Amino acid sequence: MRKVLIIGGGLAGLSAAVYLSHNKFNVTLIESTRRLGGKVYSFYEQAFNSYLDNGQHILLGCYDETLNFLRLISAFDSLEIPKNFSLNYLFDNQKYSELKTLNIFHPFNLLLGFISFIEFDIFDKLSILKLLIKLRFIDSDNLSNLTVKEWLEIEKQSKKSISLFWEVIAVGALNSSTEIASAKLFCDILKKIFWTNKDAYKILLPKKSLQDTFINPAYEFLERNKAKILLSEKCEKIIFQGNEIKKVITNKRVFEDYDFYVFAIPFYSLKSLGFTVQPEINFNYSPILNLYIKLKENSLTKSHYILVNSLIHWIFNKGDFINITISNAAELNHKSKEKIESLIIEELERFLPGIKQKILKVIVIKEKQATFIPTKEVINNRPSLENKINNMFLAGDWTNTKLPSTIEGAIKSGRICANKIIEELYSKL
Ligand SMILES: Cc1cc2nc3c(=O)[nH]c(=O)nc-3n(C[C@H](O)[C@H](O)[C@H](O)COP(=O)(O)OP(=O)(O)OC[C@H]3O[C@@H](n4cnc5c(N)ncnc54)[C@H](O)[C@@H]3O)c2cc1C
Repeated sequence: MRKVLIIGGGLAGLSAAVYLSHNKFNVTLIESTRRLGGKVYSFYEQAFNSYLDNGQHILLGCYDETLNFLRLISAFDSLEIPKNFSLNYLFDNQKYSELKTLNIFHPFNLLLGFISFIEFDIFDKLSILKLLIKLRFIDSDNLSNLTVKEWLEIEKQSKKSISLFWEVIAVGALNSSTEIASAKLFCDILKKIFWTNKDAYKILLPKKSLQDTFINPAYEFLERNKAKILLSEKCEKIIFQGNEIKKVITNKRVFEDYDFYVFAIPFYSLKSLGFTVQPEINFNYSPILNLYIKLKENSLTKSHYILVNSLIHWIFNKGDFINITISNAAELNHKSKEKIESLIIEELERFLPGIKQKILKVIVIKEKQATFIPTKEVINNRPSLENKINNMFLAGDWTNTKLPSTIEGAIKSGRICANKIIEELYSKL
């Protein structure tokens, strides 16, 4: 049985571990912290009488890698799959509008959805539909030198179509401003969202906590497949011999004689171990802020709301509490939690007058390095999963999966690593 050491227990490491142990490899996974999951975690909060996630994670119907992973670990049922796609908009004059697909066959469901959306005039609708159709035939490599904003301007998208549609997708998926995010990456994800299948653009929300959706089922799968999981075990040094890893030294022991080593740790952690990837680039990170607000009574009826022209991007309705998400939150993130709380409550009051009086408890969660910023430079020079060291493989949402820094990217990178190891082994037999 071939031995693999996986360093890092986020979703990329868990995905590599799941696929390798499923293929009968002898897997050991080490994680520096006391828990698995990395950027995906949940914690119990007494005042909410509930597990809360470190932030709402939105999955999409086009997340094929994630859906396959959840099927393999028997957790697919944890997702809420809606019948139709809808974006629910809330305006500060308390107006509410819904952009939704209709109950007819694809792609006419989408077409009629846009045509019947009352916020768009005929010019907005035509500009969006024209670009959605054109998308299919665009070679995204031709957009390598453009930002999302520049591309949308070249494509003559109206102001309203940008603010109510393209920006909602871009800021949500790339966690960055359209002024710096890569048009190539945006085009690639739009193709996946709108030109894969009839379910690809549906928003899927986990019904359970992230811990119960991803981490616990993955852990149980690994236990069943005899993988060894070692927590609070940090890789501190890598010893190379020629073009191979000879040893991995942790705070507790030395690992040697492994056939393959998968490093599924963030780019900055790899760098701090003295390993430089090729080409040499620098990643900058963008924060995401989440607020959980427990309410005396909640009159919201939809599962989510997008706030138009607001500091707040999304409200997710959880019954007796709401979850507010602010992406690309660099400006707010450096403020104190108290300041953020008061600013967001004022903003919420503008959209939902009277809500202030109904608030029982607020929790603010800052994730400073939530995702990397996908600038043109980063996307054009993203490191691949392979490198010059024969028995070393890289995984993580930052490796070149052609996807943004997402759950889907992390899981895909782990699955590709596993495949490469399997291929490498069979090529030697
Ligand atoms: C608030 C928030 C909201 C998000 N929203 C979404 C969303 O809506 N949709 C979406 O798809 N994605 C979303 N993401 C992004 C998604 O969570 C990440 O892209 C993904 O979880 C990254 O997984 P990873 O395994 O690549 O990295 P990580 O999760 O960072 O895992 C790396 C692991 O390696 C460990 N490690 C580091 N150094 C060492 C070492 N030396 N030795 C051993 N272990 C080490 C770390 O402790 C960590 O557990 C969001 C992220 C955040 C923070």
